[in-house]
Amino acid sequence: MHLGKTPRRPSQLVSSHELIEDFLDALKDVLACEVVLADLEMDLDKEIEAEGAKVDKARSAITKVCNLYYQLESRKENIEAPLKELSLHLKLDLTRLLADCLKFPAVIPYVRDLGGLRRLFICYCGLNEAPDREGLGLCTGCLQAALECVREKKKSDRFVLYRSYSSQVRCRHADFNTALVTIFKPGFWLPAWCEVCLMQEKDRISLKSK
Ligand SMILES: [Zn+2]
Ligand SMILES: [Zn+2]
Repeated sequence: MHLGKTPRRPSQLVSSHELIEDFLDALKDVLACEVVLADLEMDLDKEIEAEGAKVDKARSAITKVCNLYYQLESRKENIEAPLKELSLHLKLDLTRLLADCLKFPAVIPYVRDLGGLRRLFICYCGLNEAPDREGLGLCTGCLQAALECVREKKKSDRFVLYRSYSSQVRCRHADFNTALVTIFKPGFWLPAWCEVCLMQEKDRISLKSK
């Protein structure tokens, strides 16, 4: 029987079935480090030496995935099927996650959906990624379309336009008379933005890409 997430058995005595279980658990541990790893990439970009217990935990989870993978490889175990099965169950691409773990730290193992989108970057539309995690969280297509919508008070199936007397649902630029736009998602109350919010976001992104 498999007990817990940190098995301590000597690997040469472990059956391949157990080894695969440990391997999949180790991959799940990497999934749980998603935000730490995304922050780590930002630090690497800024050439900051990232450290701390959470970073250590993420690094050791990745190391464990790699070690277990190499053990399974040396036993000529086929991991494709169990990887695929768990991927479909979680609706996440674990095959890619493994490939990225093997290339770490040159590549950050991001959690991706089955369409290849990084989960932390997915726009409210669910179809594209936002350029980063620092702004409004909109992909460039939604950003541009939302801007046109709020500017021209355009009718659209994708967006909701409104004014609000409640300051808690308004952005910091808005008063009760300001047009706000948000993405239409039945059952969800998403953040709304005014024209200034969207213009500033557009400027921020274009400055960043220069
Ligand atoms: Zn979008
Ligand atoms: Zn605003």
